Amino acid sequence: MGNFKVEKTKNSRRMMRTKVIAGNWKMNNDINGTIELISGIKSILAGKKIDAKLIVCPPFTSLETAKELLKGSDVGLGAQNMYFEENGAFTGEISAAMLKSVGCEYVILGHSERRTIFGETDELINKKVKKALDSQLKPIFCIGETLEERESGTTFDVIKRQIQAGLSGLSDSDMKAVIIAYEPVWAIGTGKVASPAQAQEVHAFIRSELVKLFGAVSAENTVIQYGGSVKPDNARELLGQPDIDGALVGGACLKAESFVGIAE
Ligand code: PEP
Repeated sequence: MGNFKVEKTKNSRRMMRTKVIAGNWKMNNDINGTIELISGIKSILAGKKIDAKLIVCPPFTSLETAKELLKGSDVGLGAQNMYFEENGAFTGEISAAMLKSVGCEYVILGHSERRTIFGETDELINKKVKKALDSQLKPIFCIGETLEERESGTTFDVIKRQIQAGLSGLSDSDMKAVIIAYEPVWAIGTGKVASPAQAQEVHAFIRSELVKLFGAVSAENTVIQYGGSVKPDNARELLGQPDIDGALVGGACLKAESFVGIAE
């Protein structure tokens, strides 16, 4: 589709970005399932040195249990959503402060399932991103095109709009806490993974847009994950691409072996 290179300024040096592998459990695992999965992850990790940051994002009801189980481990804890208001009459919603109080450091925002099933708009997601940052939560900000958008040749327009609107009002300093997850909707939960070249092309485009919005240094330092049917057997090639800095994993994060296997 295009050839996007991030122009480096004279003073910018290529930072070695740490790979970040986050597991989005979605609406899976009750308390027993949570204990089993986190115990499994911890036992596989015991005594191993993994050159990546691992994050688990269980459902709200399991966050407290997950926090207790993860005490003393390097695995980070994230939630899958939040609302942007502080508190009040918002039945069924969860605030940033509530997530902080159960030990969350990260929050997934703008996942395609939130956008398509629950009708979340770029504007709403932007409010959530800002509230997360104000509350010292690190957003994992998801973007990605549908199959229809890809086939009609509008992938870059969609990605550009999602970035500009979703990150509107942020400073380059805010961007230090933001992780971007590029998740082509057609690859989520379908087993249809983007080819490393297809993913790299969009990641490079995302980084080139970040240069325009936040400058070259900030763009170089931003972690951009790929998400969409990532498994241990396709992770190496995807994560070997120059602009792919990790993965947001759905299905394969529900088994300890495959989740840690992706990071390995
Ligand atoms: C996701 O939902 O973020 C995701 C990437 O799912 P899967 O890995 O199952 O495609």
